[in-house]
Formats: sequence, structure tokens, C-alpha cells
Amino acid sequence: MFGAIEAGGTKIVCATATAPDRIEARITLPTGSPEQVFRQIGEFFAWEGLASRPLRAIGVGAFGPVDVNPASPAYGKVLSTPKPGWTGADWRAALARFNCPVAIDTDVNAAAFGEWQFGAGQACSPLAYVTVGTGIGVGILHDGRSRSGTHHYEMGHIYPPRDSRDDGFTGVCPFHADCLEGLASGPAIEARWGRALNELPQDHPAHALEARYLAHLAVTVTLSHMPERILFGGGVMKTPGLIARIREQACTLLAGYISEGPASGDLSDYIQFPALGDDAGITGALILAERAAG
Ligand code: ZN
Repeated sequence: MFGAIEAGGTKIVCATATAPDRIEARITLPTGSPEQVFRQIGEFFAWEGLASRPLRAIGVGAFGPVDVNPASPAYGKVLSTPKPGWTGADWRAALARFNCPVAIDTDVNAAAFGEWQFGAGQACSPLAYVTVGTGIGVGILHDGRSRSGTHHYEMGHIYPPRDSRDDGFTGVCPFHADCLEGLASGPAIEARWGRALNELPQDHPAHALEARYLAHLAVTVTLSHMPERILFGGGVMKTPGLIARIREQACTLLAGYISEGPASGDLSDYIQFPALGDDAGITGALILAERAAG
């Protein structure tokens, strides 16, 4: 049996499986305090990881910032975060009682693993996965392995130029105010317009603005990483018409500069939805577990 945890900003999914595509049991918890979350996860694994079938490994796809370098003494620790109580929380220590390898990567990299192995990113290298929800994050895989620098990438916090149609909204990022996450995440949309994007009429200016900001990210990912495909997932992406608008705006911003390859043309094959939908992250966390079990 493998164990997996997909820890997002608002909810945490926990699963056991005999293989990454064979989930046997799962629960969804609210992202409460780490004490609460770790206790509930422990109870779930103790219950599901039946004495006869102990867990061989646990994979964690965690919200950031988190130390994802296996060689670091702080591997698996949550770094400085405004999320109450979570700074310094230690995933590996919390799961040590299961006496099995614990592998950690970011939630977006985990979702990318799932899509690379079973979904819309199969055989794509590099593969980029963008999530637009409580936060905005980007995962980059090369040959199915996640890439990072001295720390995992933080592309959700780039500063896109303010659009001329923008109303001057100050932004909600506690660090940068009007970085991309501060302007275009789910909480940013709610703060600016008073409701979620999919609750606003299709002719509302919020749609074009959101697409424009996310297109800036698509273009930045393209110019920095030249992936074979970019997948856009997360709650905000469920808004009808948004992905088509992002493709169109990204085409405009690229301005024909890339004349060949996946990022040329109308981008309909290049910018896609994840095929596993909301299961991408937990599937990827199981892939992490399977790899850690060796
Ligand atoms: Zn920011």
C-alpha cells in the first residue's frame, strides 16, 4: 500500500492506493491548523494502512513554501508562510510514526506528475502545470522529474504589467500586493468583484482581465522554459470560456515571435486542461510515494 497527501490552501486530500491509478480509500479535510491536520491524517493512515498491509511509502504534494530538497536538513518543513500556525510545520516528522520513506514535492509538481504519467502531459518534456485557485503556482517537469533552483519555483508571484483596463485594485498578496497571485487568484477575484469568476456574466470585464493576467504567466513560462505543453488547472479554471481567452491573449502577447513548435499557432494544443481534473494532485503524490518506495 502507498499513502499520499495533497495539501492545498483550503483542503487536504489523503489517500491510500495499491498503485498510483488504483486508489482504495480517500478523505478530504479542511486545511486547519497543522496539529489538527496531522492528527486527522495520522488517524486515516492508521485506519487504512491495515496492520497486514503497512504503508511502503508516503508521497506529499504540499502547498508552499516548503523545503523540497532531499539533501537539506529541513526537507519537508514548511517555510515562512502567512498561513496561521504552519511556519515550521514538519511533514516528515508528522509522518515518521509510519516508519516508511516520505517524499515531498510541491502541490503543483505533484499534479504535473499525475498528468505526465496518466493525463494530458504524457510524453511532454518539459511539461508545465499551472494551478489557479487559492494561490497561483507553476510546476515544471523534465522527463517526468520536477525542476527547481535553490528553492522550488515561485512563478505565481511574478509581477505582470497592470492592464490598461485595470481598475487599480491594490491586490491581495500579503507580500507583494499586486503580483500575479495578488491580482488573479481566486481570493483576488472575490476581493475585487465580490464573487467568483464563474458567477460573473460572460460579458463582465473580469473575464478579459483574468485571461490577460494568466496569459502573461503562460508567456513567461513559455519564454523561460519552452515546454511542450502548459496545463491550466485549479478552481478558477473551471470558469467557462477562460482557457480559450487565455490562448487568445497569449497569442497576442507572443506576437508571432515563436514561429515553430508547440508554442506557435493558435495554442489550442499547447494550452490545455489537465485530463485527470481534480485527481491530478493526489495521483501525483502517489507517484512520489511509488518512486520513494523504490
Ligand atoms: Zn506575491
